[in-house]
Amino acid sequence: EAAAKAAAIIADSGAPTIFDKIIAKEIPSTIVYEDDKVLAFKDIDPQAPVHVLVIPKFRDGLTQLGEAEPRHGEILGQLLYAARIVAQKEGILDGFRVVINNGPTACQSVYHLHLHVLGGRQMKWPPG
Ligand code: ADP
Repeated sequence: EAAAKAAAIIADSGAPTIFDKIIAKEIPSTIVYEDDKVLAFKDIDPQAPVHVLVIPKFRDGLTQLGEAEPRHGEILGQLLYAARIVAQKEGILDGFRVVINNGPTACQSVYHLHLHVLGGRQMKWPPG
């Protein structure tokens, strides 16, 4: 198991981010959902009554959606389905938004892929 873990870390290219510490539980977060591949926790600076981040536990090079490759297809699907689980758990299944900010132009600040799940209020369109 240690070897598998080491291999996963080597495959996880890109600088460590604060989300690595959240996954390792070195810094606290309010976890909404967790399984072996995915972690969902409350955003520290919520932009809506419900604002949860859904992230892969093994980034595997996925610093941002624009870096996705065919091998990431399965985890991308798992992340999207986890967003649905979060929406149900948070009681917003009837109306919620899922956002991925990709790159500086979209104001991405943490380079570990994450989905924002937002809801609990009337959302506006277009977003800012
Ligand atoms: P932006 O910062 O412009 O929203 P991102 O899409 O990269 O860009 O989102 C990163 C998110 O991570 C932000 O919503 C931010 O509030 C959140 N965040 C940063 N640090 C923490 C933390 N320690 N715990 C929970 N959420 C965090």
